[in-house]
Amino acid sequence: MTTGRPFPSRRLHGFGTTIFAEMSALAVQTGAINLGQGYPDTDGPREVADAAVAAIRAGHNQYPPGIGIPELRHAIARHQARWYDLHYEPDSEILVTTGATEAIAASLLSLCDEGDEVVMFEPYFDAYAAGVAMAGARRRVVTLRPPDYTFEPRALAEAISPETRVLLLNSPHNPTGKVFSRAELEIVAECCREHDLVAVTDEVYEHLTFDDAAHVPLATLPGMRERTVTISSAGKTFSFTGWKIGWACARPALCAAVRTAKQFLTYVSGAPFQYAIAHALALPDAYFREVAVDLQARRDRLVAGLDRAGFRVYPPKGTYFVTADIRPLGADDGLAFCRSLPERCGVVAVPNAVFYDDADAGRSLVRFTFCKRPEVLDEAIERLLALRPSR
Ligand code: GLN
Repeated sequence: MTTGRPFPSRRLHGFGTTIFAEMSALAVQTGAINLGQGYPDTDGPREVADAAVAAIRAGHNQYPPGIGIPELRHAIARHQARWYDLHYEPDSEILVTTGATEAIAASLLSLCDEGDEVVMFEPYFDAYAAGVAMAGARRRVVTLRPPDYTFEPRALAEAISPETRVLLLNSPHNPTGKVFSRAELEIVAECCREHDLVAVTDEVYEHLTFDDAAHVPLATLPGMRERTVTISSAGKTFSFTGWKIGWACARPALCAAVRTAKQFLTYVSGAPFQYAIAHALALPDAYFREVAVDLQARRDRLVAGLDRAGFRVYPPKGTYFVTADIRPLGADDGLAFCRSLPERCGVVAVPNAVFYDDADAGRSLVRFTFCKRPEVLDEAIERLLALRPSR
């Protein structure tokens, strides 16, 4: 049957299949090592998994409250206070969501009217563009450029128009691994205050920072708590990316707006996992520190390996991704490079070009994840060494 009108709707034209699904399917097809989609190859703490099992056995299997179970909302409030001295009232200022992705979509849907503009940095995580499109809004991008992936304050000011409603910020930043400095955040905050924007922040890699880098939530800057929806999730911090428990923290009116959209997207979020994440968020500081230290060693391993294989590497200060330039290897089309890589040497990466509107800016850049076991990283490096240009 044809209806004479193409699918999907105009809003979703061009979104097709995500690059993560395409590249993970390619990995399965070819048996390549998947350093594309970011997900750990080992589970998080046993006691957290046990808490989920215990919650199922205890009968927490029906709809939980739409805003999330009180135990988890209180745990999120304590987490924000403990790490950032940010204080939220668990009943009116915290909302549990189905991952950060839902929190971001619900924020955009509830804050933007048709034709409003959303400013974001590029490269940007693909779900942001789709969320903006589904909200009927338009995106305006400001390009982050290597090696530091910083931005021109003027470019940010120029991206803002009378239509701008939201500034969407991701730090630590996927795919570059950049952690925005306090000085950069001050520029962003000043923009939000001056133009009366709502900031929506994706902080899912908040605990995955390296060296001297520290994550600073935008909401901690002067005047920002009242105009920021702070979003994070459990998937990355606790290595349970399939559980999809996220949250949004914001002052009551903003939080209520996001809740309005959330209740018609997923209604509520997975009950037993909420109990388990309430337990996880209360783990001692040492757990959070060890996650970062362990990941930093994996970063060093992969960065050194990519460097030996001949890539130009931009070592990340956070997340579990590293961006590399393929031009020293005699290639410059990252998409073609990633599509042929499994066949050439049995490794999957993601082309950064898909995270840019300015296709030239990301053309020769590719992203690898290092949230894999050390022996898997070593095997991938061994394979990538085959790409070394012969001297
Ligand atoms: N956030 C992860 C990544 O960037 C997973 C993305 C996804 O599968 N949608 O790889």
